Amino acid sequence: MNPFDHDTSRERAGATGCRIGAPDGAAVSGAARSDAKPGPHDQPQSMCPAFGALRVGLRMWRTASVLCGSACCVYGLTFTSHFYGARRPVGYVPFDSETLVTGRLFEDIRDAVHDLADPARYDAVVVISLCVPTASGVPLRLLPKEINGVRVIGIDVPGFGVGTHAEAKDVLSGAMLRYARTEAMLGPVQAPRGGPSERPTVTLMGEMFPADPVGIGAMLEPMGLAAGPVVPTREWRELYASLDCAAAAAIHPFYVNGAREFEAAGRPVVGSAPVGRDGTAAWLGAIGDACGIAADKVAEAQNRILPAIGAALAGKPIDGCITVSGYEGSELLVARLLIESGAEVPYVGTAAPRTPWSDPDRAWLETKGVAVTYRATLEDDIRAVEDIRPDVAIGTTPVVQKAKQMAIPALYFTNLISARPLMGPAGAGSLAQVLNAAMANKDRFETMKAFFAGVGEGDAAGVWHEAPEGVDSCS
Ligand code: SF4
Repeated sequence: MNPFDHDTSRERAGATGCRIGAPDGAAVSGAARSDAKPGPHDQPQSMCPAFGALRVGLRMWRTASVLCGSACCVYGLTFTSHFYGARRPVGYVPFDSETLVTGRLFEDIRDAVHDLADPARYDAVVVISLCVPTASGVPLRLLPKEINGVRVIGIDVPGFGVGTHAEAKDVLSGAMLRYARTEAMLGPVQAPRGGPSERPTVTLMGEMFPADPVGIGAMLEPMGLAAGPVVPTREWRELYASLDCAAAAAIHPFYVNGAREFEAAGRPVVGSAPVGRDGTAAWLGAIGDACGIAADKVAEAQNRILPAIGAALAGKPIDGCITVSGYEGSELLVARLLIESGAEVPYVGTAAPRTPWSDPDRAWLETKGVAVTYRATLEDDIRAVEDIRPDVAIGTTPVVQKAKQMAIPALYFTNLISARPLMGPAGAGSLAQVLNAAMANKDRFETMKAFFAGVGEGDAAGVWHEAPEGVDSCS
């Protein structure tokens, strides 16, 4: 076999057949690379979805998180968790072909859960099944629901079934909410730390910058409401408080399992978020409607906050063309804020699916001429950058890399955009600094592109599709 002619798709896909993050964006699945139209199991390119669920478990106090999957997957997930500052250990139940096919693996998981279920240390043990055990049908639903007062929650989060790591956060959050709701229906449950809120609360679904819930609380105050817990919660007892709300806000609109639990608890779920002037006005109105607040109180809340947001937007304008893409689920909110800051945003791609809770944002963006793509692939996002050639591209790592190769300033969504406040007056000016600084760097990118011209491209890329002349094949 010609060594320059071997099939690399298997290597790119990884031994488990994982196609997530295929470097060229091609549909790589198992042993064969396919250029065919994506099928039902093709997912947007993203990191391993299980990372989202694992992150939720690891951030929760008195919760043990246990993975069951191939060792290479668990290594990657553990590495990434600690890279992102997890302060708790990751449990692992390994398997081999024999334990998998004989059913012994389920017994190993059950034994591990029994060993961990110490009520002095844990409120809950979470078992996360990865691709291979899930595909093999390891029945986590048969685990005991509770051991010594420690709740046991098993979830399947395979890459072939959960679209993004963001949605995997919802899978675990939804399972926990369902468990907590069942407990609350059966009898009294633990009160939140510091006691119940004096005012009716609005639970906030979706991880956000720590200052955002505080800002939202201030916006709700004139309506006689308070910001409730943020889901995913940091503690089991917060789940009860989150369910005991006047309404739930799907700040991140892909929390479909969470929303289902709030609706089952008789709580209305409100979409969009208080971003920018228009977004905040509409969101406060929708929250007021959902919670039965009098119109004059809603108007008071709007009048108190909207001038400050308008002033912040006007004080920190963004003048440029920006494409937005990502897999966090907040892409539409960021685009709204950019547009209200003065930017032109022709394209928003999100790896998250369309849900009713992002419809207000989609509709608003479309009135501004924005093309919104749900379940956007890497190819969609890169095509947008190539066609539009924006002043700044916001995106995932490969999108940022592609843009920078084109001498287009680019910002990584997760580290540089998600790590900033978005809501209310604090959010209104927060993106301008980083976006304007990126745009001002355009000349440096041109200089770098000229300096490195030809390096790593074409014949200099070190990749040949045929044996170079004069080189003998090994076969
Ligand atoms: S669990 Fe599945 S999606 Fe995650 S790394 Fe392993 S094979 Fe890939």
